[in-house]
Amino acid sequence: MRKLIMALDQGTTSSRCILFDKSGNICSMAQKEFTQYYPRPGWVEHNPKEIWSSQLAVAAESMAMIGAGADQVAAIGITNQRETTILWDRNTGEPVYNAVVWQCRRTSDMIEELKKDGFHQIIRQKTGLIPDAYFSATKIAWILEHVPGARERANAGELMFGTVDTWLMWNLTKGEVHATDYTNASRTMLFDIHRLCWDREILARFDIPEAILPKVYPSGYLFGYTSASVLGGRIPIAGAAGDQQAALFGQCCFEQGEVKNTYGTGCFLLMNTGKEAICSDSGLLTTVAAGTSKTPAYALEGSVFVAGAGIQWLRDSMGLLSNAAQSQKYCEKVEDTAGMYIVPAFAGMGAPYWNQYARGTVVGLTRGCAKEHFIRATLEAIAYQTADVLQAMERDSGIHLKSLKVDGGASANDFLMQFQADIVDTQVQRPRCIETTALGAAYLAGLAVGYWKDQEEIKVNWQMGKCFESAMEAGRREALLKGWKRAVRCALAWAKDEDGVSS
Ligand code: ADP
Repeated sequence: MRKLIMALDQGTTSSRCILFDKSGNICSMAQKEFTQYYPRPGWVEHNPKEIWSSQLAVAAESMAMIGAGADQVAAIGITNQRETTILWDRNTGEPVYNAVVWQCRRTSDMIEELKKDGFHQIIRQKTGLIPDAYFSATKIAWILEHVPGARERANAGELMFGTVDTWLMWNLTKGEVHATDYTNASRTMLFDIHRLCWDREILARFDIPEAILPKVYPSGYLFGYTSASVLGGRIPIAGAAGDQQAALFGQCCFEQGEVKNTYGTGCFLLMNTGKEAICSDSGLLTTVAAGTSKTPAYALEGSVFVAGAGIQWLRDSMGLLSNAAQSQKYCEKVEDTAGMYIVPAFAGMGAPYWNQYARGTVVGLTRGCAKEHFIRATLEAIAYQTADVLQAMERDSGIHLKSLKVDGGASANDFLMQFQADIVDTQVQRPRCIETTALGAAYLAGLAVGYWKDQEEIKVNWQMGKCFESAMEAGRREALLKGWKRAVRCALAWAKDEDGVSS
């Protein structure tokens, strides 16, 4: 009987399950969307029970699709939306409140408070994060403070906290395991990434009792076994990692200097920085990379807010495209953007600029600018923003970029990938299998149970789909980048005026 590895991919809008074989091929896949709740402007919630039921349903479905029994599943690996926060009763399993989703901004005020006495510096140094309402800490504090009785129950040891991996593990094992992995812990803003333990000083600051926290282990680790009643047998749960770290692992970026970029709605870039946790001067985050070792590697993380979202904007708001894939054809119809740049700073600019007041800007318009140029400028902007983050990563780490491995929906665009290679002057590698997040979770679990022998064996599975070589003449690259920097200055100048800082 051919054994398989199950990856549970619990995302922000859907739960998915993929069964992989030893070569990393997809044997079956099932997916189910679930409800998003927006109780107030800026608030986002999920129902924890729906997270669990949708995840369980797709797990069972993916097995049924190929007639696989529990004995055919060698191990389960979990990957999940990061930072999303759930508290539940350890005796009944009842959540005390909805899951507060990473996107939820309800605790922004608490972050402002931290800046007043400099505590945000302590957090930055210990957790590698720039304090923000995204991370779990203030979400836990909010639930303890606002849900009637929650504080008392937490103090009495009746409640448990978990990110989504922990919640799924606890349900899969029917309450036997309360655990998480280094990567998920590193996004709570409560975890010291240097000492690899929960930090008492930060816990005290947010008034969070240590007793509600899960135990923390490496990402590839035998956490426990599914209860026999859940999927028809006791299957080892042997992997857990936050989605971006799972993708880094799924791309086999095991070496220092290897980088992956996921081109989705936004872009998520992670660089493996090896044994050193590097503190960034450019506002990048320091985080733990997934692995099977008790002494994990670290990574630098940066993101681009508007990537595929810019293409959606062209399609849905501007009516310039009927689908995203069409953008490639339009870009290839013209030689360049006719001197035009679009800076899609719809909601401010992230690393390395960090300006929340910047707004979208179009510069260099002439009478000759046509729809094709407009579309091309929007796609090029994705590559320029990625180049900015990569440059910051190289500068902060002193590590030269080895390769850029890509995945995500917009990585399917050959024009974008070629322009990316040209503008960064590096080789862009797009693997055949772009389900790298699920694959990463599967690899971690498979390594922990000996399904795969070691990382070398896994590397063999990484197959090139298409490779894009840098082909742009240096002078042209420099001129284009210079123009981009000028365009960004225009977007920032707009913000300055709004701030009343200029003149
Ligand atoms: P997410 O996980 O953030 O929803 P996906 O990885 O599914 O994102 O990618 C979807 C994004 O990629 C959308 O924003 C879409 O506009 C963009 N996209 C998909 N296909 C293409 C394409 N061929 N060219 C350019 N952009 C694309």
